[in-house]
Amino acid sequence: MGTDVDVADDRWLRGVRAALTAQFEEQTARLTQLTADTGDPGEVDTQAALVAATRRSLEQITGALTRLAEGRYGVCEGCAAPMPRERLEVLPHARFCVPCQSRRGR
Ligand SMILES: [Zn+2]
Repeated sequence: MGTDVDVADDRWLRGVRAALTAQFEEQTARLTQLTADTGDPGEVDTQAALVAATRRSLEQITGALTRLAEGRYGVCEGCAAPMPRERLEVLPHARFCVPCQSRRGR
């Protein structure tokens, strides 16, 4: 069996979906908070950077939830190999396996 993603393992996938959904809600709340007018012009730059980072992570989470819904979650988009669960547990929105990710340079 190994530790690769088994798409038939509903229990594990449900756990992943729950974690991603919680992250999604957390980031959405954060974004709402960040985009609220603080009335402090000195923080505009920091705030813009935080908003951009939060939007990016929301996109990543949404992408992972879409892949889950479409049944192609946990499959590397580079080499089409299933990713080890350990990687997905650390980085639930990962789109590439470790070798592909490092080839892409980050
Ligand atoms: Zn790969």
